[in-house]
Amino acid sequence: MPDIVLPGDIIATEEEAVPSDGTYLEDSNIYSLLTGVAKTSSSKAYVGGKLRDVQPFKSRMSVIGEVEENMRTVLFVKIAEQFINPVKYVALKSGKIVAKPGMLELPRAGDIVLAYIYASMKDNYVLDMRADEYGIVYAKCPYCDAELANPSKNVLECKSCKLTERKKVSLLYNNAAAIEQFLAKNNSVSQWKHQ
Ligand SMILES: [Zn+2]
Repeated sequence: MPDIVLPGDIIATEEEAVPSDGTYLEDSNIYSLLTGVAKTSSSKAYVGGKLRDVQPFKSRMSVIGEVEENMRTVLFVKIAEQFINPVKYVALKSGKIVAKPGMLELPRAGDIVLAYIYASMKDNYVLDMRADEYGIVYAKCPYCDAELANPSKNVLECKSCKLTERKKVSLLYNNAAAIEQFLAKNNSVSQWKHQ
């Protein structure tokens, strides 16, 4: 039976196989960088599929993701893939935001955030949203599902029921072109060439 894997799935350990095409070694585990069929042969682990330049996100990159779970003091973010020509970046693990004293209220599940990878840990990317560009970029009203407007810094207001909240909102809220430009600038390949 073919073993279909997704980016970030562990397909073997370092003891079992040598990482090869479509894979990435981190913390003794071999992860898939692609969606495809995982194979191990002559002790090589690889993922068959359309091969292109795929890399995992690294520390200091900026990412977009959807908040999946808000557990009051910690929230988990599903990080979206990003194509910065010619490289496709994939997340091997979830992003994690930890609430700190004095922080503005955290986003809720379903909100889309722009964040900075502060550190890449074994199980998570630790995300930071302190700079003005980072924070919530898209959100809907939790009561009536209408779009939220951003009338002033760190304020979200429902266009329909007028619910108003103070949250950490990105300067680039609801501005797809500016977000795209920001990601391209901050994650450009030339920035990573010398690492
Ligand atoms: Zn509303």
